[in-house]
Amino acid sequence: MTADLRNAKSFLFYQTEHPRPVLDRAEGIYMWDQDGNRFIDGSSGAMVCNIGHSNPHVLDAMRRQMEKSTFGYRLHFVTEASESLAAKMCEHAWPGMDRVFFVSGGSEAVESAMKLARQHAVATGQGSRWKVISRWPSYHGCTLGALAVTGYDALTDPFTPMMQVMPKVPAPTAWLDGLDPDDPATGAHYAAMLEAKIIEEGPETVLAFLVEPVGGASTGALVPPKGYMEAVREICTRHGVLLIHDEVMSGGGRLGTLYGGRNWNAAPDIMAVSKGFGAGYVPLGAIVARGDLVEAVLAKGGFLHGFTYAGNPLACAAGLAVIEEIERQGMMQNSLSTGALLKAELVKLMDRFPFIGDVRGMGMLLAFEIVADRKTRAPLAPTVKAFDRIVEAAYRRGLIVYSRRSRGGYSGDHILVAPPMITTPAQVGEIMERLTGALAEFAAETGL
Ligand code: PLP
Repeated sequence: MTADLRNAKSFLFYQTEHPRPVLDRAEGIYMWDQDGNRFIDGSSGAMVCNIGHSNPHVLDAMRRQMEKSTFGYRLHFVTEASESLAAKMCEHAWPGMDRVFFVSGGSEAVESAMKLARQHAVATGQGSRWKVISRWPSYHGCTLGALAVTGYDALTDPFTPMMQVMPKVPAPTAWLDGLDPDDPATGAHYAAMLEAKIIEEGPETVLAFLVEPVGGASTGALVPPKGYMEAVREICTRHGVLLIHDEVMSGGGRLGTLYGGRNWNAAPDIMAVSKGFGAGYVPLGAIVARGDLVEAVLAKGGFLHGFTYAGNPLACAAGLAVIEEIERQGMMQNSLSTGALLKAELVKLMDRFPFIGDVRGMGMLLAFEIVADRKTRAPLAPTVKAFDRIVEAAYRRGLIVYSRRSRGGYSGDHILVAPPMITTPAQVGEIMERLTGALAEFAAETGL
């Protein structure tokens, strides 16, 4: 059975033109529809199902929690589940980042991070600071606050009258700009744009800088150039600007660390997490913040913010079991080793398909860019519908990959390949066979 998503009773944010089968069950990296067709979850949903589907330890933990209680309102109870998960999350965070505020998703986490930053400014006599600088392109969520810091015109334009659009600086797209990402001058070049923007806006008005350690859907697994993260940290500190890492997609272990930003020696002040922490088992998100920052806010009347489902015991029990499984099965190490193998295989595709302009990413957060010309990096015309066709050709072969039109949403295509962290080398082979077939079909149809 297939369903035309355009007519489904429950409607979607993304109107795919193609019918989709009805999901029956999922296990490990595989998903089956009701007709028994098997799909490889090559993008972990939307970089969510990091530990694979139907993990027995997580299901057990959820069952046990459900039998005890499924809800305890935050103002009435602390739960063992929420406290244990918060402690585990802090164990992996930078020293001093020892407070957690739970929410249910990524947009909520980004909103919460910005509101905590604002309340901290007010609490510490810096009420003139309210601007959150972010990058273009970027995606930070779909609520109006998170959208205001999102650099993705197609998504933001219709809503601009409804929100205070925040200042943006260019994302460090070294490849696209023809710069060497390993040259420290490149990192310094993009970081200098942040400093210039802070000065242009007036440092006394700038509250925070929001950045994804490794870019997700908007930039296609963009790894920061050498020195960028450290320079950004230094600039923020010097201007009294808080640094917020959006770890919604880069967190959860696929970069080899529970928080992707830990790959650089540049601690943020607040982190927003979601996707991989609930890992597709439950809606879960959080901010992890410097304790002194939280204390300052709590001392001045409290954090004026909160969601009814925050800290839900079922979500927290699942989230704790997810991290326990990541640790027990060494999934972060696997993400690095199998991710390196997968990346090497993607790089090999460049020999066969001249329209692959770049392969990038780290661990199990990888992407390749589709171009008209590898030398000039010119994108294909949107009318070619490259990402749509490649994704569909892969889907027909039983491989799910994820893509967005990059470079702000209107020119350029990339495909994200980010299977669960439990993927084996043999399964990399299965992914590559299907992906190569899809690319060969696209090449034959377009003559590229
Ligand atoms: N931030 C980043 C980096 C994301 O990739 C996303 C979702 O894709 C979000 C925030 C928003 O998360 P959610 O869709 O859970 O609200």
